[in-house]
Amino acid sequence: MSGNLIRIKLKALFMKDDLVDLYLKRYGEILNMSYVDQLKEEVRALQAGEITKIDVVPSGNFKYDDRNDASLAAHNRETASAKRTKVKLKALLMKDDLVEKYLEKYGEIINPVFVEQLKKEAEKVETGQIQVVNGKAAVDPIYKVEYQCPACNCSEVVGYSLRSKSQAIEDTIFLVPQYSGISQYFAVDFNLLQTTVCPRCLYASPDPKDWKRASQFTGSITESQLVVHTKLLAEIRSQEAERKSKFPEAKDDPNYFHRPRDYKKALESIVLSVMRAELEKKHSLPAADYKIARYYLKIADIKKKNSEDYKPILKEVEKYFTAAAIENRGDNVTVEMECIYQVIALNLYFGNKEKAAQYIKMAKDALNARDQDFQTDTHSTELKAKFNEADKWVRKIDTIWEYRDERDFWESKV
Ligand SMILES: [Zn+2]
Repeated sequence: MSGNLIRIKLKALFMKDDLVDLYLKRYGEILNMSYVDQLKEEVRALQAGEITKIDVVPSGNFKYDDRNDASLAAHNRETASAKRTKVKLKALLMKDDLVEKYLEKYGEIINPVFVEQLKKEAEKVETGQIQVVNGKAAVDPIYKVEYQCPACNCSEVVGYSLRSKSQAIEDTIFLVPQYSGISQYFAVDFNLLQTTVCPRCLYASPDPKDWKRASQFTGSITESQLVVHTKLLAEIRSQEAERKSKFPEAKDDPNYFHRPRDYKKALESIVLSVMRAELEKKHSLPAADYKIARYYLKIADIKKKNSEDYKPILKEVEKYFTAAAIENRGDNVTVEMECIYQVIALNLYFGNKEKAAQYIKMAKDALNARDQDFQTDTHSTELKAKFNEADKWVRKIDTIWEYRDERDFWESKV
């Protein structure tokens, strides 16, 4: 505001030129309504005979004494420092709205980390990685979880969890979840973050049960489910050198697998999970082939998103699911039926209807077996639930079989 404009405005407020002059001498060319009010109060006090004069320095008898001067000076300093902060932030952030957002979020302390954070957030908003809901950057659907490594006892393992009901999830034909944000949450590809990696020994798993962890509510400690498999754990420990030589960058950086996790790092985290599961397979742990196949599906998904050839990976996946379907022990109906479903889906995808048809027969046999189990005790809710689960998968299989000749369906659902 120019000096002239301030003078005009002050004249409108005080109506007298001498008061305008006094204001300008006392406070300088800053128009501040609290100063205006102070001076007006002195005018009122003079007229009421409470003080004898109004001077550039407020009267000693008057209530605007040292204390008020001091607070006024502090206020002046504050205003000046706020101005300087704004100028600096503007130079760093380049945009007024970002400066306002910064001050609102972090206050008047300029921290380069916060500046970078806000810049990145703004970039993500611009590129659509963060959705803006009602003018505000949407809420993060991910929260951190702390684990302890069952292999090396490192207690600084960071895992990531997805807030429930924060994402709409749609499965691909091979049951790889695809995420999009709902309500106030932004979308996160949790496939990239799901695998937790020990920063010290590179042991990796997406399954919280594979880690030693404290309950969020009671604080009670739960051991990793692998703790009973001492020989397996010993071998996981002796595999450490191999893991580290495969991923030297991860070995030298304890924050390597923290967010943000790009495609490369996400792939590496899953490959480390495959290495663990291969050892589980060697030690005959249940569903190892199934786990490996699921991990490879995630690798194929990432390669697809990164515009790489993912079909050779799907061929590998088919082999693992076939092995898993054949070796199935029948103790987990969901895993059993999913393995059969995946063999059928993958073979239909690759145009191999004959093998798919064989496995459809296997699925129907599995359903019949559950039906017979249920007939032995029709009051058993457990047997009924198993039958229903098998039935659900058979219906899913029937649906994809109907689409067996529609190439568009298969290409659009991968
Ligand atoms: Zn470890």
